[in-house]
Amino acid sequence: MTIEKLVNPHIRELSAYVPGKPIEAVERELGISGSVKLASNENPLGPSPKAIEAISSALAEVNRYPDGGCFRLRSRLSERLGVAADQLIFGCGADEVLELVVKTFLAPGDEVVMPWPSFAMYPIVTQGMGGASLRVPLNDEMKHDLPAMAEAVSGRTKIVFVCNPNNPTGTSFSAAEQAAFVNDLPDDVVLVIDEAYVEFARRSDFPDSLSLIDQRPATLILRTFSKIYGLAGLRVGYGISSPELIGFLDRARHPFNVNRIAEAAALAALEDEAHAKRSWETNASGAEFLTRSLEALGHTVWPTDANFLLVEAGEGVVDALLREGIIVRPLAGFGLPRHLRVSIGTAEENELAVKAFARIAERDGAAAGAES
Ligand SMILES: *Cc1c(COP(=O)(O)O)cnc(C)c1O
Repeated sequence: MTIEKLVNPHIRELSAYVPGKPIEAVERELGISGSVKLASNENPLGPSPKAIEAISSALAEVNRYPDGGCFRLRSRLSERLGVAADQLIFGCGADEVLELVVKTFLAPGDEVVMPWPSFAMYPIVTQGMGGASLRVPLNDEMKHDLPAMAEAVSGRTKIVFVCNPNNPTGTSFSAAEQAAFVNDLPDDVVLVIDEAYVEFARRSDFPDSLSLIDQRPATLILRTFSKIYGLAGLRVGYGISSPELIGFLDRARHPFNVNRIAEAAALAALEDEAHAKRSWETNASGAEFLTRSLEALGHTVWPTDANFLLVEAGEGVVDALLREGIIVRPLAGFGLPRHLRVSIGTAEENELAVKAFARIAERDGAAAGAES
């Protein structure tokens, strides 16, 4: 009681982020084994073997603090992206960079405009600073309603989040749509373009956001080593922006926020282009297989530019899948009880998932038949 009274009101009212359940927790609860986790958009191929090697060699030096500036990763990535070294900031996952943005720019009462449904961390970090989330619904194609988002920006708006491709829908917007949106946006709001899944994008007219930074310095692009690079467990993400904006984020940053092992692994993962290419191909063919198979079962599947699919499979299917040992992400929290998000796995995992979907559809069909 006493403690509760002491807590900042905006933290008291916050609900914690609900992550996908670890496999061990699900198996323990249900008394099953051999289950497949397709719930957190992780790389199903695992990390690059080169990253594992780099991790092993970094282990002997963990008595030393890491390089707080991530010099080696910074140099390599700035070369790779064609930006200056002082245009990059690294974080304990892109999640930390999100938090740095709100910490740097948001004061209690300020507004943040964001799409919805989208990444659950946006309202959480916003409320964590006492800010207000203005959620702009996706359009009826489950895409960002960019004109409505621009419309929602007011004098109270400090930050605008967009997520491209969007989590949890996999949908994306084009270069032309982004350009029109930026044109409608006042210069004095921070535009955060979350590109956690950009490496998976398949459309040819995907925006080249990096080129936007010179034109609009209050733009921050977020990327991560958690998804295509398969290092979710090590927590490395980064932001790309103008040197000025990065400089302010850097003031809010903990000095050793990226650990020694994580930096070494990220650097090695970046060099292993073959592994990234294999991951992309596994994902592209898996997306096609899952889309085709789930549509054949009568489910609605949205086009994806990411490593997961939005599926409308009906109410109760998430739990039914769980009992079949297939862990997917429920979307009832977004007001979508009939929808789920399934991460694209290896060919074998995708097949197991489709078989489970098919068994459930067959049972539901039989039950419906018995009723009528
Ligand atoms: C996974 C994800 C992130 C952050 O990932 P980190 O593991 O914190 O780097 C950011 N944005 C979106 C939309 C994501 O799905």
